[in-house]
Amino acid sequence: MAQYDVVVVGGSASGLQACLTFGRAYLSVLCVDSGNPCNRFARESHNLLTHDGSSPGQIIAKAKSQLEKYPTIQLVEGMVRNVCKDISGEPDNYSFKVDIDSLEDDTTASFVARRVLFASGVDDNIGKIPIANVDKFWGNYIFHCPFCHGTEFRNGKTGVYYSNAAFLKTMLPTLYNWSRELVVICPDDVYGSLGAAFVSAMQQKNIALYQGNIVNVEPRSSEDRRLYRANLDNGSAIELDVLYLAPPSTINNKEILVKLGVELDELGLVKVSPQQKTNVEGVFASGDNTTRMRALAFVIGQGMVAAASICHEILRERWTG
Ligand SMILES: Cc1cc2nc3c(=O)[nH]c(=O)nc-3n(C[C@H](O)[C@H](O)[C@H](O)COP(=O)(O)OP(=O)(O)OC[C@H]3O[C@@H](n4cnc5c(N)ncnc54)[C@H](O)[C@@H]3O)c2cc1C
Repeated sequence: MAQYDVVVVGGSASGLQACLTFGRAYLSVLCVDSGNPCNRFARESHNLLTHDGSSPGQIIAKAKSQLEKYPTIQLVEGMVRNVCKDISGEPDNYSFKVDIDSLEDDTTASFVARRVLFASGVDDNIGKIPIANVDKFWGNYIFHCPFCHGTEFRNGKTGVYYSNAAFLKTMLPTLYNWSRELVVICPDDVYGSLGAAFVSAMQQKNIALYQGNIVNVEPRSSEDRRLYRANLDNGSAIELDVLYLAPPSTINNKEILVKLGVELDELGLVKVSPQQKTNVEGVFASGDNTTRMRALAFVIGQGMVAAASICHEILRERWTG
């Protein structure tokens, strides 16, 4: 079985940054990626220094081309199916067996690694949102938060549809920065938890409030596919340029992580230390699977931190070993 210092599960923003750090430290790394980054639906990415306005694909392509000069990094298109720990049998010299299905050909293979980094992101489960056509707008007219795309819709007709009152109360003053033409659409339970003071503040700012659920969203026309309207179950139709909602995201590879004994937090994200270590020695995680601060700049930073932590551990072992 081929051996690597590290297997990185997921070769997108966080995983590729980790690879860059590993490559520059001459660690041998196999990075396996199944090609489904969460931002693949977006035409443009924003708020990433030197890449404001690039497409997600352009950012990944450039990252991969810059990695080519680091010979210890191997990138493969594949799906990690299983990771199991301690195949060395020596408690202080842990290692992992990683099983992979290749997406380049129909083969399967297993590898040994001293550390595993899960930079494998989340699934936004867009198909589970009970709004017809939401998938046609997700990433270009329907977003989670304004830091990535809000500026492109500045002063536009802005719908806010969060299923959590606390999140709504945090986000509304923030969204007010991007547009004063705000419409809040509230499912019954959220409406009930807003509180009189918050509702009165909304009224003072002329923020429209609709109680109900969005059932579908429509484009302007068959030629102009921009967002035009959200239709509610109470019959209301609201014209919008942009809509904010929080998708029902879940981490990828939950089964593998839980089987390894990795702890998740109350949001279902991987619990990590400031060094991106999980509770299982040798298993690290970085990126969207560990944080609600879903932004390229942040997850790239985490990838660097994870890789530096792993380098420290492995190089210390070599020093003493
Ligand atoms: C629609 C949308 C638009 C966004 N726009 C912006 C923006 O403009 N600016 C910004 O800063 N942020 C933006 N974000 C957030 C940003 O895209 C994420 O924070 C970032 O992509 C997370 O990087 P990641 O590496 O953690 O995960 P991802 O980019 O999601 O990548 C995870 C990778 O792991 C792979 N993978 C998963 N499981 C396995 C497995 N078992 N085996 C092999 N590979 C596996 C996946 O295929 C995927 O390629 C956006 C997010 C979304 C959803």
